[in-house]
Amino acid sequence: MISKQRAHTALVSEQDFVATQAVRSHRSAHDGTTRRYLFTGLLRCGPCGRKMESHWINQRPGYRCRHGHTSTQQPTNRRRKILYLREDHIITRLAGHPSLASDAQSPHDLAALLRKNKITIVCDQESCTPTKGPSTQVNPLDP
Ligand SMILES: [Zn+2]
Repeated sequence: MISKQRAHTALVSEQDFVATQAVRSHRSAHDGTTRRYLFTGLLRCGPCGRKMESHWINQRPGYRCRHGHTSTQQPTNRRRKILYLREDHIITRLAGHPSLASDAQSPHDLAALLRKNKITIVCDQESCTPTKGPSTQVNPLDP
């Protein structure tokens, strides 16, 4: 579907530019492939509230959250399963949200739309929920 308001083309282009810069910063030359992540900085882990990291999985872009655990932190009985999400799965989930899908004609548009509207996607293993508002830290510590 075409957005009703093509008067905002300039603004969208600017957002596209910003998005492109974010993608380029994650380029990796190790194996000659360009690694593109559409949603860098837009995804938040539902269980712990941290931003999800870009993470290349099986030749595909994806994202993960280790919930802040490092080898020097947290006894194993507090360890949560690392959350991994494939980017294409996230796109599929978001396409089911009418408020987002109506203005986005491609995954790239979708990412630009999220940035423009300051929408954060809160993810867990089962769902991705668009959340409007500033991406404030949601209680980074376990209760
Ligand atoms: Zn987490």
